Amino acid sequence: MGMDKGQYHAWIKLQEVIEETIGYDHLPCAQAPDLYHPSNEDKYYANMAIQACNDCPIKLPCATYAIAYEKEGIWGGLSASERIRIRRSGKITMDRKVRRL
Ligand code: SF4
Repeated sequence: MGMDKGQYHAWIKLQEVIEETIGYDHLPCAQAPDLYHPSNEDKYYANMAIQACNDCPIKLPCATYAIAYEKEGIWGGLSASERIRIRRSGKITMDRKVRRL
């Protein structure tokens, strides 16, 4: 999976936010990565991941990044289909969201 330039820069910004706040090793998703994996479509586990995101201090920047760039998995408390709905709603454009990172 390759990243285009825009995604790469947004990804780097997200990593900086993580390091300045909680640190990667302490992220809820780093504790249980299987819960967030796209192959795990079990609603029970997806809901567990979403709950864990709700306690994550970088939920907003994570969701912002993922709405713009991630097609699969749980990110920022949002499922892939929820992110698609947000994108299609037109209320959040990729650029505007990424600038808020
Ligand atoms: S909000 Fe993002 S970084 Fe935090 S636990 Fe959820 S997926 Fe991981």
